Amino acid sequence: MSTVLITGANRGLGLEFVRQYAESGWQVIACCRSPEQAESLAGLAEQYSAVELERLDVASEHEINALAERLQGRAIDHLILNAGVLGEKCANLGEMTQAGWLEVLTVNTVAPALLIQALQDNVAASEHKVIAGISTRVASIDDNSSGGMYSYRASKAALNQILVSAAKNLAEQGVKTVALHPGWVQTDMGGENALFTVEESVQGLRKVIGELTLADSGCFRVFDGSSVAW
Ligand code: NDP
Repeated sequence: MSTVLITGANRGLGLEFVRQYAESGWQVIACCRSPEQAESLAGLAEQYSAVELERLDVASEHEINALAERLQGRAIDHLILNAGVLGEKCANLGEMTQAGWLEVLTVNTVAPALLIQALQDNVAASEHKVIAGISTRVASIDDNSSGGMYSYRASKAALNQILVSAAKNLAEQGVKTVALHPGWVQTDMGGENALFTVEESVQGLRKVIGELTLADSGCFRVFDGSSVAW
């Protein structure tokens, strides 16, 4: 049985990843910072015995290392680095603070890097060997026509660099990476006017992740499979 690990699995895109992988018969390691409050996720764990809940605040290096310790020796086919914050209070000139910046960078950039470091052997030991970072089109420098969103754009652009470095450094072990734009999706972050449902976004993202080859590793893709310019 293939195994997926998902961060930020209690709501939004993360929760839908859990639902779809579980429905497809995968073993799912669903990570969230407060499992005792994750009602929808607990419902999925009741419905599917292959869904396991793990505590992980991605801003805690201690919790990342403790999780890696608990998972030692277990293969992870798809590692989905999904947890993220928008950093609304640190989006524009006149609003930015050091604390605001560090909060966004800690979750969106540092955490994925530390998780790749901590779980690389688990991914390398698996059959499918994919690390997927949930990025965003607004991380694209080429696409930045309006400015603003300083910390969010920068934190996700840095995530993209991390994924490209990991593609180079882990290629020898057969590990592939991809930076993914999920579309503008109806979640707490995307809001109700967003263009896509979580179902269609995650369906597309899973297809892109599933079809990734070593030759494609380190690419930046939309959920429909098209490429994003850096
Ligand atoms: P939501 O705001 O709906 O969910 C964010 C998830 O991240 C929650 O599960 C949240 O957990 C988790 N999270 C935040 N901080 C931490 C932390 N410190 N430790 C663990 N988990 C944390 O967002 P989406 O589902 O929309 O977003 C998922 C990903 O997709 C993000 O990386 C986002 O940047 C990206 N994205 C989303 C788009 C959209 O239109 N929705 C567009 C482009 C990219 P908790 O409930 O505990 O806060």
